[in-house]
Amino acid sequence: MKSASQFQLKQSNSFNVASITPSLYQPASYADLDDLAEVLNQPFYILGEGSNTLFVEDETPVIIRPGFKGVDIEETCDGYRVRVGAAENWHQLVIRCVEQGIYGLENLALIPGSVGAAPVQNIGAYGVEFADYCQEVEWFEFSSKSVKTLSRQDCQFGYRDSVFKGALYNQGLIISVTLIFPKNWQAKLSYHGLDVLPEDVSALDVMKQVIAIRESKLPDPKVLPNAGSFFKNPVVSPEQHRLLAQEYHDMPSYPQADKSVKLAAGWLIEQAGLKGFMLNGAAVHDKQALVLVNKGCASGKGISSLAKHVQTCVLDKFGIKLQPEVRLIAARGEVELDEFEQ
Ligand SMILES: Cc1cc2nc3c(=O)[nH]c(=O)nc-3n(C[C@H](O)[C@H](O)[C@H](O)COP(=O)(O)OP(=O)(O)OC[C@H]3O[C@@H](n4cnc5c(N)ncnc54)[C@H](O)[C@@H]3O)c2cc1C
Repeated sequence: MKSASQFQLKQSNSFNVASITPSLYQPASYADLDDLAEVLNQPFYILGEGSNTLFVEDETPVIIRPGFKGVDIEETCDGYRVRVGAAENWHQLVIRCVEQGIYGLENLALIPGSVGAAPVQNIGAYGVEFADYCQEVEWFEFSSKSVKTLSRQDCQFGYRDSVFKGALYNQGLIISVTLIFPKNWQAKLSYHGLDVLPEDVSALDVMKQVIAIRESKLPDPKVLPNAGSFFKNPVVSPEQHRLLAQEYHDMPSYPQADKSVKLAAGWLIEQAGLKGFMLNGAAVHDKQALVLVNKGCASGKGISSLAKHVQTCVLDKFGIKLQPEVRLIAARGEVELDEFEQ
């Protein structure tokens, strides 16, 4: 198996923070996976492209970076079945599918990261999420050293959530995903920005529009390093929502099927007066408050201190504790914002 010691991860995370792993392992075959067992008796972290990851210390645990590649497309009478290796790039997959006449993923264009990470937080944007097209996930279980096939139901997808963040957390590694697309495609245009498109719009034009909107709203990590939305949109009880809405009449809110109400974390951060706020070389983005950016030479610790400050200010003002969507990784493994010493 390909491996390296004392490997610098600055180029391997979209916050562009420096951090060194004592050992990097890159399994790319089933045989490599068997060899992994020997490294799992110490803290480790599975890394894709690092676009939802913040290394908060100068050192990380052992890093396992899956190297499984390949895209296999099978046409059936009424659709397509596409099996994709975990190490493929998500956006390139979207482009390839749309160019080959396989439609459905166009609303998920330009989401950074690897295919293997997509099921973990059930990536979503513009009214579509990974779960909508997932048929199964091929997963290597560390304890039994065996490959399992998890159905969409097994994956327990939710809003930015899945079994890989819950019961199967750190229990194994995603090798590939299989997606299924019906031929009778219909554009999903309900989201603001896409609703201006005609009903008979092509998937290619939906993709172009999604890319244009995203480029106008979100900073490009290559220019201004960031990990997209730093916090999840909080979900509150109907009672808590009623009390807040009495005080903040223009507060955006999105009622959920179970009667809870989702609020916009970006709006809460902006109302707490933090848009553009800078600390330790990191900043709350001046156009999109949900995004924290590295202004150049911030450390992971500096960015996490800013995140903590944002969390505290929003809690003080609204009584809502924002939870990071980004994974915080210290030398001992994954940590919570509270638990990590600022
Ligand atoms: C500018 C920007 C915009 C973004 N916009 C969106 C958006 O619109 N919607 C959205 O949902 N997300 C968005 N994100 C977040 C990010 O793109 C996704 O979370 C993406 O899936 C991360 O992929 P990655 O390979 O970089 O994951 P990493 O950061 O490397 O890892 C993320 C998590 O997945 C786990 N993981 C990775 N690979 C595997 C594997 N093979 N097996 C098991 N576990 C694995 C890691 O352990 C970690 O817990 C955005 C990020 C950025 C920088």
